[in-house]
Amino acid sequence: MEKLEQLYEGKAKKVYATDDPCICIVSYKDDATAFNGEKRGTIRGKGVINNRITNYLMKRLSAEAGIPTHYIEELSDTDTAVKRVTIIPLEVIVRNVIAGSLSKRVGKPEGTELRCPILEFSYKDDELGDPMVNDYHVLAMGWATEEELDAIKDYALRINDYLLKFFSSIGIDLIDFKLEFGKTADGEIVLADEISPDTCRFWDSKTKKKLDKDRFRRDLGDTEGAYKEMLERVFGAK
Ligand code: UDP
Repeated sequence: MEKLEQLYEGKAKKVYATDDPCICIVSYKDDATAFNGEKRGTIRGKGVINNRITNYLMKRLSAEAGIPTHYIEELSDTDTAVKRVTIIPLEVIVRNVIAGSLSKRVGKPEGTELRCPILEFSYKDDELGDPMVNDYHVLAMGWATEEELDAIKDYALRINDYLLKFFSSIGIDLIDFKLEFGKTADGEIVLADEISPDTCRFWDSKTKKKLDKDRFRRDLGDTEGAYKEMLERVFGAK
């Protein structure tokens, strides 16, 4: 399978057409941005790590939790063939422990436990700063139908259940993460985008050391080492 014209370039990935109209190739980059593009940098090795972790998790979510995903085939260290989808313009955020923007919103310190997971939506629009929206906005704006929204919520919570156990088995607390879903030509809702240290908060269960993009956002140092450690732990899992 070969890359044809570039369809899209995002902050961390490029997307190419292929000779099959139903298949795209995503190519992961080492570029990193934070705070809506205000902070820019490079995390060496990130593209390879995020590609490999995402594909590993999508395969397991599909086989062991029955979650439909866009994943087709890993083509190289940085490139993966995926189903061509229309992205639902929502960032679907699942939270298990208070951190990041939620810590500011509710005035509680990072690390505060929650009684149950929180599901949040943001409208994917950089110019607007990805504002938080709720179910009513999603339906009223036509971003998804009620059936699609039900599927997205069901998948997001099932993905959380699966990933909580998976990461706990490798000594990682899954604090929160962001998912994106897409719609195939047949109208099926599938998990798209990535699941990686760019899009999740991972804390070492014992030391609570941050092993994710917060190291870059907050200048905590050794971001590359943290990404590499996550790759090794994920691939060392049973
Ligand atoms: N997140 C993401 N992309 C975004 C915003 C958030 O991947 O554009 C992830 C982030 O890495 C974290 C979770 O979603 O794991 C919740 O992020 P939060 O709302 O706390 O925002 P942040 O503090 O990262 O700005």
